[in-house]
Amino acid sequence: KTLTVELGERSYPIVIGGGLLDRAADYLRQAGVPDKSPLMIVSDDNVAPLYLERLESALSGGGYRVVSAVVPAGEQSKSLTVYNDLVTRAIEAGLDRSSAILALGGGVVGDLAGFVAGTYMRGIRFVQVPTTILAHDSSVGGKVAVNHPLAKNMIGVFHQPELVLYDVDTLNTLPPREVRAGLAEMVKHGLIWDREFAEWCWNNAPRLLDLEPEALIYGLERGCAIKAQIVSRDERENDLRAILNLGHTLGHAIEAVAGYGRYLHGEAIAVGMAAAALLGEERGGETGLYAETMLMLRALELPVTLPEDMDTEALMAAMQRDKKFREGRMVYIVPSEIGRVEIASDVDADAVRDVIERLK
Ligand code: NAD
Ligand code: ZN
Repeated sequence: KTLTVELGERSYPIVIGGGLLDRAADYLRQAGVPDKSPLMIVSDDNVAPLYLERLESALSGGGYRVVSAVVPAGEQSKSLTVYNDLVTRAIEAGLDRSSAILALGGGVVGDLAGFVAGTYMRGIRFVQVPTTILAHDSSVGGKVAVNHPLAKNMIGVFHQPELVLYDVDTLNTLPPREVRAGLAEMVKHGLIWDREFAEWCWNNAPRLLDLEPEALIYGLERGCAIKAQIVSRDERENDLRAILNLGHTLGHAIEAVAGYGRYLHGEAIAVGMAAAALLGEERGGETGLYAETMLMLRALELPVTLPEDMDTEALMAAMQRDKKFREGRMVYIVPSEIGRVEIASDVDADAVRDVIERLK
């Protein structure tokens, strides 16, 4: 199944299905990636032992020259230090303006490798080969970044891929906790845009948690399609695209305050989405908004509460540093009903404090 992301003059395909790694060379060629210059695959040390050789040999069998770079798994690799190592590797390997960088892994590898691709020689081709459920979100839309110790994703650019090659067979080795975290972004796409899809995620939670292929492919397709639609309308986050940040203002703060890596991104935004629903209902959203959101998130076995000892003021301070802070005011994405959100810049800090306290 192939979806297309349309961005003004450009577009790129998202291919979702089984057995795609072995046919990677054909897909790259179709996407216009030339084979005269070397390619660099970036992966992490969990994913590389599982899938790197297969991708390398598929590509070299198809006439591409390939070098690989493996970084430590985990959020800590989204750093300027690791970025610099990868640029060194790219220079040493002779990557030039016609080269492409491939990200084989989850959102961490995608964001990191994408930031290298977006900045190396002012930007070279980039291909996403996602291997997590969460990456149905991160691989589409062209936001790439590394973290600053004080705030997540602070250093980045917009750099769209030439191709997203989503081989769902790779998801079978994903640890269950990562499966759940990835489903948080999936249900998010329903919560912001499509009540029916949110309800589908809820009703099919057991099948999704079991990685049943049919359910998984449908969920990923629908999630990617919603993201693609939103990004097509607002590539640079002037307005609409901000709705994708549902749960992320608090979510990012939770990640930062707990220490990167303690919470998985999907877990943190699940708590963030629960908080947003509570805030939304208090601001006059539909009755049952909060209760229903909680049921959906719980069905996907995601956290919806905060530990009592998490410092509310530390969370508030971390939120202030988040990029959703604009023109002197915090911007929150607040649901008004399931499937519908507003971009609110008039949320009172005390209302947010109160919601955080109530989630403990
Ligand atoms: P991740 O890349 O760290 O992957 C999760 C874990 O699973 C890692 O330990 C990884 O090594 C392992 N793994 C990956 N694929 C595997 C497989 N097939 N089998 C076994 N293990 C596997 O994390 P993630 O959840 O994919 O992504 C989170 C990151 O994505 C965060 O940094 C977040 O900020 C970013 N993100 C970016 C965007 C965006 O638009 N750019 C959107 C959402 C999230
Ligand atoms: Zn996210």
